[in-house]
Amino acid sequence: MSLPKVMILGTGGTVAGTGVSSHETSYTSGQLTVSKLIESLPGIETVADLQCEQVVNIGSQDMGEEIWFKLAARINELLAQDDIDGIVITHGTDTMEETAWFLNLVVKSSKPVVLTGAMRPATALGADGPANMFAGVVVAADKASHGRGVMVVMNDKVHDARDVTKLSTTAVDTFCSPNFGVLGHVHNGTVDYQRSPQRKHTTFSKFDLKGIDHLPRVGIVYAHASGSSDVVDALVDAEFDGIVHAGLGNGNIHHEVLSGLTDARLKGVQVVRSSRAQVGATTEDAEVDDDRYEFIASGSLNAQKARILLQLGLTRTQDYRELREMFRSY
Ligand code: GLU
Repeated sequence: MSLPKVMILGTGGTVAGTGVSSHETSYTSGQLTVSKLIESLPGIETVADLQCEQVVNIGSQDMGEEIWFKLAARINELLAQDDIDGIVITHGTDTMEETAWFLNLVVKSSKPVVLTGAMRPATALGADGPANMFAGVVVAADKASHGRGVMVVMNDKVHDARDVTKLSTTAVDTFCSPNFGVLGHVHNGTVDYQRSPQRKHTTFSKFDLKGIDHLPRVGIVYAHASGSSDVVDALVDAEFDGIVHAGLGNGNIHHEVLSGLTDARLKGVQVVRSSRAQVGATTEDAEVDDDRYEFIASGSLNAQKARILLQLGLTRTQDYRELREMFRSY
């Protein structure tokens, strides 16, 4: 029997990083090519037939829309081919959750797309990159992975792009799906699934990048004690199309910021209420009357993912109710 064919797309990150020594934290992301990285995966030839392409080689702090469009186009092209069964993207961990979520909404295939990376550079003692890449290939090669949307595989855990977030600045076990838990685990070169994502993704998503070369501008305002509307006003003056407020607790808003956001909405800027709290949903009409202000509650999407959904939503409609419906269904 022939092995599943998996394409590895390299984008850089710590997984491709090299350090000043085996045990110090100083290092540079995106130094090694993906073809070099797959040399450190002994036994992978029994799991999948691998090919690789380097898309970019950067620290993921520099990830953004231009590369996302390029990645999405290449992934859609590759997955339309009969001779590609799945894709693994090597990626820095800083923005991995955002790239995963963006792709989850714009990839048009039920074949698996997996993001993986490393917290320790390739030259460090106990580098986690090879094990993560191996596990990522295991997941991408498995038929049971089809239809589960874009996933993040790190530390033998399989995460849904929607829920996963980076919790720790430095810990190897940094990724967590704080609201719903992992989709499954990788053990002994196989994946053991426990659940599937319920919200719309990939083949059920309406978002399409055809004919679009940029996304609407959406900024995030991070809440804190002693609020003022200055940052909101600056985004309105800079003609942002939307604002996500990473609010207090259940998306609460200091009264001065609320007045800025109310004015922003009256000027046509869409406003999403999210939370700076890491766990739990920002629920509709709790302490803030969303209907009165025409604000949208982010539900269990964190602020950085709410930003991406609002950007994609604004490519389809300016209607507040339609946008609100997207936050209820994606
Ligand atoms: N800045 C790096 C990146 O995201 C560090 C994180 C990592 O890859 O672990 O590319």
